[in-house]
Amino acid sequence: THFGFETVSETEKASKVYKVFENVAQKYDVMNDAMSLGIHRLWKDALLHVMHPQPGARLLDVAGGTGKASIPAEHADKSRQNPDNIWLRLPPPPLGDIAFRFLEYVRSQQERQQRRAVLLGQTPSWQDVSDRYPDGGGAPESAVVVCDINKEMLKVGRQRADSRGVTTGLSWVVGDAEELPFNDDQFDLYTIAFGIRNVTHIDQALKEALRVLKPGGRFLCLEFSKVTNPVLERLYDVYSFQVIPVLGEVIAGDWKSYQYLVESIRKFPDQEEFKGLMEDSGFFCVQYFNLTGGVVALHSGFKL
Ligand code: SAM
Repeated sequence: THFGFETVSETEKASKVYKVFENVAQKYDVMNDAMSLGIHRLWKDALLHVMHPQPGARLLDVAGGTGKASIPAEHADKSRQNPDNIWLRLPPPPLGDIAFRFLEYVRSQQERQQRRAVLLGQTPSWQDVSDRYPDGGGAPESAVVVCDINKEMLKVGRQRADSRGVTTGLSWVVGDAEELPFNDDQFDLYTIAFGIRNVTHIDQALKEALRVLKPGGRFLCLEFSKVTNPVLERLYDVYSFQVIPVLGEVIAGDWKSYQYLVESIRKFPDQEEFKGLMEDSGFFCVQYFNLTGGVVALHSGFKL
């Protein structure tokens, strides 16, 4: 198998990937912004927009890394001062990774429905669950499980979440995408953002995703892909091979890890190939959307 452009054994790849993310954990979030010029936030916004999660949904974010708990502290504090006042509550902050974006998105959906219901004198649809949950327990809260193979990445995420008081609905689990530590049919949604190219057996990770999703559940994957425009492709090549490793050295003191990240992107299957892999693994209605001219692709598929 490949570790960047080096040919290594499968066990070597897994331990080298582990080492890369152990090295970059502390600087990962800063580097992410620097390397993508902040555009990764727009790609993640696009994922949430396509996902459009509803209150009560359970999400598994695999290879979730640090979870990027970059919700500004002052926002969290102000929101806590008005926990019940749905009119004064601040709008969702513009920062945060998949897990945090998901929780904010669901919360804003709930609040919108609540405001609408107050104006119309009705019960919000997400509260009116007696038909779906007849035991009287009510709808389960939305929840996210962030799962990553790397303890260091999770540690950074958990510390930041704790320091900003973001704990409700969020849990952190060390686990391998190829052998997830969850029972079958557990989640409504599965996301993997910039993680699947690091996995040694992509087909095995896809099979595991299918196993833990509930029937009807949705898989969404963000990953670097094949640039479709030749001019953009040329610029992207120069940026990837000549700028990113330099940024890695200057900001994180780690040229090699960032060189690996760039090279691993080139080895990953393109849009159509990855779509085929998803279909072969058993996903239905597989489609993809190119973002930023194919620099990144968002793949989506459902479990029947
Ligand atoms: N999802 C985050 C984001 O979008 O910023 C982090 C992506 S980071 C580039 C890739 C992550 O994949 C790392 O945290 C790494 O530890 C994790 N990873 C690599 N191999 C994995 C595996 N087999 N199972 C689970 N996570 C894995």
